[in-house]
Amino acid sequence: MSVEQERDRAVAGRARQNVFAGIDMDRMAERRDDRLWVDELEASADSHFLVLDSEGMAFSAPDDERIAWMTPAMRSERFGDVPATLLGIANGRAYFTLVVDEVHAEIFTALSHARRVGLRDAGLLFPTFEAGLFAYAKGITHWQRQTRFCSSCGSPVLLVASGHRAQCTNADCAHMHFPRTDAAIIVIVEHGDACLLGRQRGWPKGRYSTLAGFIEPGESLEDAVRREVREESGVEVAHATYHSSQPWPLPASLMVGFTATARTTDIRLRDDELEDARWFTAQQIVDGMKSGTLAVPPPLSVSYRLIEHWLALRGVDLGELTGHKQA
Ligand SMILES: [Zn+2]
Repeated sequence: MSVEQERDRAVAGRARQNVFAGIDMDRMAERRDDRLWVDELEASADSHFLVLDSEGMAFSAPDDERIAWMTPAMRSERFGDVPATLLGIANGRAYFTLVVDEVHAEIFTALSHARRVGLRDAGLLFPTFEAGLFAYAKGITHWQRQTRFCSSCGSPVLLVASGHRAQCTNADCAHMHFPRTDAAIIVIVEHGDACLLGRQRGWPKGRYSTLAGFIEPGESLEDAVRREVREESGVEVAHATYHSSQPWPLPASLMVGFTATARTTDIRLRDDELEDARWFTAQQIVDGMKSGTLAVPPPLSVSYRLIEHWLALRGVDLGELTGHKQA
């Protein structure tokens, strides 16, 4: 294997380790408009429906840490008027999602002995595929909820393509709306033997994390890395390199992870951004975590992966410190 191939493989592997990323599914984008075909799939006895409540919580089975699926039979008997969105096909089975109101959420809870679970908890509890599917379902249904009226002319929109597009109902406008994703960068900046971590007001005591922020119009990802780091900490970035990305539908983001090298070290905080930012050596992170004065974000996030990666290059296993072992 060439150096390039090895590097490509390492990068691909990293993204798949991020929670919610890398689900193995054919989204069937080219067939979503075939209403008859989608109807047939919806009625197929093997199809699975991922149920969400109006707050975007899912339902987990009582005895294990998995999704409580709604069956097509249960749907047609009790929930037939609730429209479903095709997520895709995996291992020959079709997966849909649907959002139920509070009355139907209670009925489903009782029928399935299910309990409600939020995406953050599910990310650490559910198997990879189910956690990723929940994130996908939460993201697309959030966009559907937010897209009721045409942003061009103000007329109501109609969901088409099994929920993946919204068509303006005003024939003179007919604008087509697509689900949107808001990209944000997240970056571990290093200088010499130290990395830059910051904390926001209101975070749990002692928690520090990598810097992050949304991309603005007219910016490349690298531009956003430089601007965010400068705005939040006053530190100037020399180089930024892509690390991995993660779907983050809370409510509609894609986190794009970077490693970066600083060319200045002076920290200047702005009032409205971070409460504190500091340079930490690997040893300071180890000592801080062992003594309980320093904490990193939960293993759910890209920030955890970036810190883990940075420490691993210095011979430190973050999983040993947090008790979280890589699956
Ligand atoms: Zn319109």
